[in-house]
Order: sequence, then structure tokens, then C-alpha cells
Amino acid sequence: MSTPSIAIVGGGPSGLVLARILQMHGIESTVYEGDASADARSQGGSLDLHEESGQFALREAGLHERFLTLTHPEGETMRVLDKASTVFIHHEPEGGYGGRPEIDRTALRDLLIESLDPGRVAWGHKVTAARSLDDGRHELTFADGGSTTVDLLVGADGTWSKVRPLVSAVTPEYAGISYLELRLTDVRTRHPDSAALFGPGIMFALSDDKALIGHGGTDVHVGASLRVPKDWTATRGVDWSDAAAARALLLAEFADWSTELTDLIRNCDDTIVPRLIYALPTGHSWSRVPGVTLVGDAAHVMSPYAGEGANLALLDGAELALALVAHQDDIETALLEYETAMFPRAAAAAAGSAQGLDMCFAPDSPRAMVEFFAGDGVPVVR
Ligand SMILES: Cc1cc2nc3c(=O)[nH]c(=O)nc-3n(C[C@H](O)[C@H](O)[C@H](O)COP(=O)(O)OP(=O)(O)OC[C@H]3O[C@@H](n4cnc5c(N)ncnc54)[C@H](O)[C@@H]3O)c2cc1C
Repeated sequence: MSTPSIAIVGGGPSGLVLARILQMHGIESTVYEGDASADARSQGGSLDLHEESGQFALREAGLHERFLTLTHPEGETMRVLDKASTVFIHHEPEGGYGGRPEIDRTALRDLLIESLDPGRVAWGHKVTAARSLDDGRHELTFADGGSTTVDLLVGADGTWSKVRPLVSAVTPEYAGISYLELRLTDVRTRHPDSAALFGPGIMFALSDDKALIGHGGTDVHVGASLRVPKDWTATRGVDWSDAAAARALLLAEFADWSTELTDLIRNCDDTIVPRLIYALPTGHSWSRVPGVTLVGDAAHVMSPYAGEGANLALLDGAELALALVAHQDDIETALLEYETAMFPRAAAAAAGSAQGLDMCFAPDSPRAMVEFFAGDGVPVVR
């Protein structure tokens, strides 16, 4: 059999680690990425990578040692507060390292990109359509009008995947949470009180179906989040690119929150971005379609309240690569093996993420979250 051509749509964690492991085993692939270059877009805050998923994938990719040099182990600190800034949990894993080190998203993406041969990522290739041809191959059309035809097509293109329709008619649904992405650049120098509020790790400030959630670090990313109808950000009569108006509206929404918490809104940079949380239904799956599959958010986007999405994306990419390596003469067996393991794993994580959302956003939060962590043996301050 001639060597199959492999197209991976999307250069996020899932697509890049897939290409990397295939490359290590001498299997060619091309990653078609819509961004014009590696630094075309800010990648957001940091991620904690779990031993059994994200870190497993980086080990298989031969990048784990380098990864550890880029992490902030102290980033595992967790604080849970209410709107009055009352601290319920302040948890530092023993020795400061509990097996889930934090890495900046940009550092993770750069690590993966630099591990790939030049030309492996085709930047500026935004896919506008994907279709299966009568001969069993698949055609991708790009925004510039170009196209390509391949034997194996992998959708690693996130929430609004253009490849997903080839295997599933299901689309992500609004999960009930909208948030304003705030950023405080160089927080330790410019806003030391806000830096102290976070500590080096993650902070959850939760009350009344609202949340201020973010990761500490040099630059702090905070989601000012609310359980509201889907059209909330569009119907507030605010131009969110007008920072003063955006701050005023958010300060009104969080009016009875402590000054130190609302200072995160007062002191944030002028770029305030509205975002909506979408998720595929828990247990989303499909019947085997020859020569096509999905990895990461394209397969199972879920709300971020269990911190699993990027970890699963990396694990999917690694497991698909390993299945293709093990069954080089039989793509269908590889895809079936990958999907059979991925579907139940994604379903369990999606259920956990939905539970996490309900713990964060409740009229009496943070009660449920404090009870959850207490049940896990995490000491509760009060
Ligand atoms: C607020 C928030 C916080 C989160 N926090 C965490 C966390 O703490 N821990 C965690 O594990 N996960 C977290 N996640 C989830 C995590 O970000 C995602 O699950 C993860 O990035 C998915 O990786 P991916 O490779 O599947 O897709 P993505 O990271 O979405 O990458 C998809 C890539 O495909 C490209 N692309 C998209 N469409 C096209 C197209 N048509 N043509 C070509 N290229 C295209 C995009 O430019 C992008 O580079 C969070 C998510 C959100 C929204």
C-alpha cells in the first residue's frame, strides 16, 4: 500500500502533538492552521497538565524534560474565596509540586511547534469546508480558494470544527456562562495587592451565580463570569471594546463584591473580551466514518470548570498517533482503536466539567466547591 497522506486541521495542542509523534515515527503529515503565524494571536493564560493525560502525551512526544523546565510548580496553589474575599481554601500541595505543574499556553504551543520539522505546519491555511469524495478520499477547501485532497483527515480545529460535520451533525450548545476576559499585565509590579490576592496559582472567587476566576503569574488572566442568557453580552448596550464602558457595566454587576476583588476589574488592561462558554453534549460520539476522525475540542468541547480540555486534547493527539504507528497498514483499525478509548474518557470528563460548572455557579457558591475539595482531603480554612 502507498503511504497515506494525512491532513491535520488545526495547530492547537491536539493537532501539534499528533503531528509531533507521527514525525518521531517517520510518518508524514501536514497541519493546516488558520492563524497566519505562531504569534498571530494571544494564547491566553496558563494550563496545569495532568500526569496521566497532558504529561503522558508530552512524554510520548519526547518533550517532557523540556516541558518541566518551562513550568511553574508553585502555580498549583489554589484559593477559593467568596465575594467578601473570605478565604475558604488556601491550598499549597506539599513540597509545592503535586504532579500538575502549570505552563503558559504560549510556552506549550512554542514547545510543540519548535519540535516539528520546518514546513510541517502550513500557516495561514484556514479551512472553509471539508467533504468526503466518492473514492474514499477527503477534500479540504481553504479561505484563499485553494484545496487539497488527502487519505486521512483529522479535525483538530476546536469548538467550531469544519471537519466535525463529516462525522456528526451535532453542534456545541451555549453552556449558560458568559465571561469577560480581563488581563492584568505585569501584575506584581503594577498591582501588587491583586497579585497577593491570587498567590502564584489559581483563584476562584464565587458567589451568587457569578465568578472571578483566574491564574496568578506575571500576567494575570481573569474571567469575570456570570450565569446569564446567551444574548447577555450582545444586549447590554455596551460596546465591549470601549474599556471604560465595559468596566462600568462589570462593576455594576459585581457591585456588592469586595473592593480588592473588584479592583481586578478597575485595574485590568484596556482589552476586555466577551466570550461565551459552549459545550458538546456529554457523551458525544459518532459511528466510524472511513478516513476521518476528530481530536480535542473538535470531538468533545466541554466547559472549562474541571481543567480537562487541553489535557484531553493532548492525550487524544498522542493516542491517535500511537494507534496510527501501531497499525500503519490499516488506518481503520487505528481509528477504531483510538475512538473506542476516547469516547468513554471524554464522556466522563464532560460530566465532571458540567459538575464543576454547577459548583462554581450556584446561588450559594462557594459552598459546593468547598465541600467537594474537603471531601478530597483538601484542608478548609473555614
Ligand atoms: C476560559 C477557558 C479556560 C480553560 N482552562 C483550561 C485549563 O485550565 N486546563 C485545560 O486542560 N483546559 C482548559 N481549557 C480548555 C482548552 O483550552 C481546550 O480544551 C484546548 O485548547 C483544546 O485544544 P485543541 O487542540 O483541541 O483545540 P484548540 O486549542 O481550540 O486549537 C484549535 C486550533 O485550530 C485552529 N483552527 C480553528 N478553526 C480552523 C480552521 N477552520 N482552519 C484551520 N485552523 C483552524 C485554531 O486557530 C487553533 O489553533 C480552557 C478553555 C477556556 C475557554
